[in-house]
Amino acid sequence: MLNIQGLTVAYGGIQAVKGLSFQVHAGELVCLIGCNGAGKTSTMKAIAGLLPFEAHAATFKGAIDLTALPAHERLPNGLALVPEGRGIFSRMTVLENLELGANARLQAGCPQSEIHADLEKMLMLFPRIKERLKQSAGTLSGGEQQMLAMARALMGKPDLLLLDEPSMGLAPMMVEKIFEVIQQVHRDGMTILLVEQNAHIALQLANRAYVMDSGLIDYEGRACELINDPRIRETYLGQV
Ligand code: ATP
Repeated sequence: MLNIQGLTVAYGGIQAVKGLSFQVHAGELVCLIGCNGAGKTSTMKAIAGLLPFEAHAATFKGAIDLTALPAHERLPNGLALVPEGRGIFSRMTVLENLELGANARLQAGCPQSEIHADLEKMLMLFPRIKERLKQSAGTLSGGEQQMLAMARALMGKPDLLLLDEPSMGLAPMMVEKIFEVIQQVHRDGMTILLVEQNAHIALQLANRAYVMDSGLIDYEGRACELINDPRIRETYLGQV
């Protein structure tokens, strides 16, 4: 689904990502974990087309060359980002945010009835959102905004969902709920690339993981193996 080889991202003269290579296969939930400043968000933004980058190869669904695809063509081609900080439109209503998520499909000729059916599915998946459709999105709690941001991205029916720090700033109960939904969406067949500070929870859910340090990959492997690796436990999970 996603093949990244030798990705570099720089801010002026400073390289934040220094030649990263990784893959996400169809149906997988892959997580990128690592300490603050490791380059996780820069990697996500580059893949989403929000930051300039260089790469030996950056292909999506085999044939799509991400080095040549403008940012606004990512979603119509099946790649959706839920950014760190959510990026919802706070003055618009919850419903308007959701409708906006399906806009590219509508433009491409998808029938309104199909979009309406997907909206119904989304409201089943996120019942808290359903109760708040007419509210302006800015009045939602942080956790509800995260749910809205995910629902909006899913309304675009992506093939790959990029989730950047979905648990950031949320109360533990809400974190649990968000991860339940991520698990459900993955079970329903969505391919997900997840960046998460909470390495413990991410490794519990993911199929595979890449551990980043200073713009490079330090470890990679099956999540169930990494979670038991003494080096990972000590450095990233705060356990011995
Ligand atoms: P965090 O978990 O703290 O968000 P991260 O792993 O997502 O960290 P990035 O946000 O990608 O890391 O940052 C990687 C490096 O790039 C850091 O050293 C950071 O200071 C630097 N950086 C990020 N954004 C900018 C920017 N807009 N201008 C300059 N340097 C930046």
